[in-house]
Amino acid sequence: MTASVLVIDDEYGVRTGVRQILEMEGFRVRDVETGREALDALSQSEFDIALIDYQLPDVDGLTLLASIRDQHPGTMTCMITAYANIDTAIAATRQGIDFFLPKPFTPEDLVGVVSTLARHKQLREEAERLKSEHEKNLFALATEKSQTRSLVASMRDAVLVVNRDGEIALANDAMARFLGKSESELLHARAADLIGLAPLATIREMLLPTAPERAVSEIEIGEKTYMASVTEFRLSSGETLGRILTIADTTDLRRMAMEKSRFIRTMVHEFRAPIGAVRSLVDVALDASMGEQIAAYVPLLQRATARLDGLGELIGDLLSLSRIDLERSRSATPGGEQVAPAVRAAVEVHQSRADLRGIGVSVEIAPDLPNAAIGGDELRTVLVNLVGNAVKYNRDGGRASVRASVADGSVLIEIEDTGIGIRAANVPRLFEEFYREKRPETRDVEGNGLGLAIVKRLVDKSGGQIDVASIENKGTTFHVRLPAATRV
Ligand code: ADP
Repeated sequence: MTASVLVIDDEYGVRTGVRQILEMEGFRVRDVETGREALDALSQSEFDIALIDYQLPDVDGLTLLASIRDQHPGTMTCMITAYANIDTAIAATRQGIDFFLPKPFTPEDLVGVVSTLARHKQLREEAERLKSEHEKNLFALATEKSQTRSLVASMRDAVLVVNRDGEIALANDAMARFLGKSESELLHARAADLIGLAPLATIREMLLPTAPERAVSEIEIGEKTYMASVTEFRLSSGETLGRILTIADTTDLRRMAMEKSRFIRTMVHEFRAPIGAVRSLVDVALDASMGEQIAAYVPLLQRATARLDGLGELIGDLLSLSRIDLERSRSATPGGEQVAPAVRAAVEVHQSRADLRGIGVSVEIAPDLPNAAIGGDELRTVLVNLVGNAVKYNRDGGRASVRASVADGSVLIEIEDTGIGIRAANVPRLFEEFYREKRPETRDVEGNGLGLAIVKRLVDKSGGQIDVASIENKGTTFHVRLPAATRV
């Protein structure tokens, strides 16, 4: 693009001569006579170059120069003067003049100076463009850096980065808390000096430049377990930059893993007992140790069958437990499940056993009871288990009652018995898998300790609540609150 030039000279001949010469060279030129006209022209449009005569009729060249520098810093300035003396030169240089062109000058001089100024201007603009791009890049880099920082800061795991000299280059809040230091204490400190505690010696070694590139280690501090992992990081050229350490609190995971293996151990034991019992009963029959009469073995085989039935029930209950855990969503029947028929069906299941022991079972259902927001199978399983326990853990000739009513907008089902009750200390363990209260009264009661665990999970999953009130040797009441279904 051609440069634009403003010529300010009160001598008509000079300014038109300059304009003609420059126009021939392809410059866009405007010429004015006075300082005022020059400022007017500059306020209307930008000029790349201003050629200023030192001696103007209204203002002197230096004052005009000052206002041009001030208001149009992008315009290159050149002083044209017949009186090029050293004072003028110094004053103009102080004002930031870019060039001097002493009068008289040849057309070549003029074209040479203006072309140089135009090139300067171009270079200056280019430099400015590069500078602002560079600044933008720096800004982007700083933003990226701060994004990385806030990302690391918000991580739940403790993170620490050491450079190849073993100095801490980055540490988040979680790491500061883990090491009991402030973040500023950590920064630039030597990792080896800070990680001095005995259980952390492993970490210190993992951070050494000579240690393996990747390592994972479990650390125990008091009751807590942590997983520390260190990875060396490199540039794509292969040059090592440092190491990154993350520490995650794995206490809960560890506890869950231990609970799982405890569960499996108990489960194996629960399987072994009936298998062992059936085995020895079969052995008796095989040895014919009770004589040749088959009838003699009937009670034995009946016992074996009962144990096998128990085993079948155990398998069924374990499958139910795992199914409940795997199904994430609630399985409520649309419109909810009617409570009254489900209660009556559950009582029906246990009626003959109750009759055998002279236990009276009553049912009381509030009129206008809303449906419960739970699946039909789930509601039946809950009620069959709880009514069953009210009969199993009752006394001969005792009573059990099931009441259903509305409480605080929920369906409340209370299953009460006049049985053996539960010791206060054991109440918190009731809903654990395989938990059974060991008492002389419960020794002959069949069960596997999974019923209440299943009940609790089903009630929780429906968004309800279950709790128990019990007095040893007096009786127990389970309260089940289920969300009421919205009527359809
Ligand atoms: P199970 O009846 O198969 O042993 P549950 O999970 O249903 O398993 O119950 C766990 C334990 O809680 C029972 O072994 C018993 O000790 C106690 N329990 C449950 N219901 C009652 C109740 N109504 N009265 C007294 N104890 C009960």
